[in-house]
Amino acid sequence: MTIPMAEIDLPPSATSERLYCPVCGAPVFGPDAAATCRHVVFLYIDAAGEFDVLAPHLARFRDRAHELAEDSPDPVIEIFLGEINKQIEFTTLFCLCLTVMGVTHAPWSQTAYVGIDFNPPSDEGESGAPEEAL
Ligand SMILES: [Zn+2]
Repeated sequence: MTIPMAEIDLPPSATSERLYCPVCGAPVFGPDAAATCRHVVFLYIDAAGEFDVLAPHLARFRDRAHELAEDSPDPVIEIFLGEINKQIEFTTLFCLCLTVMGVTHAPWSQTAYVGIDFNPPSDEGESGAPEEAL
């Protein structure tokens, strides 16, 4: 199965605070996002090179992608999506690729990969409890 991808270019003035989950309307970015929305199953920003959000049932794909990335020129996020495509036969997941481009001193761009699942698994235990909360 191939995860549907929607690639969208945004103007440099675009602000991430205005991106909302299309299923429940919760904000995608911000400290409370993962706690209130279970549809955003991953959030990866290429400039950071890490997953800001990752649902527990997708952790094995991230781990595998990091393994494979050591011997591959491909970005972790592409390997991650490729592994999901190879191993999951059916999913209600799709991926938004939001790219902001600008020219401040030099041309730059940043892409956020937002995985949205219309029907995420719900029996993964207590979900959404942030471990790092103090
Ligand atoms: Zn949601």
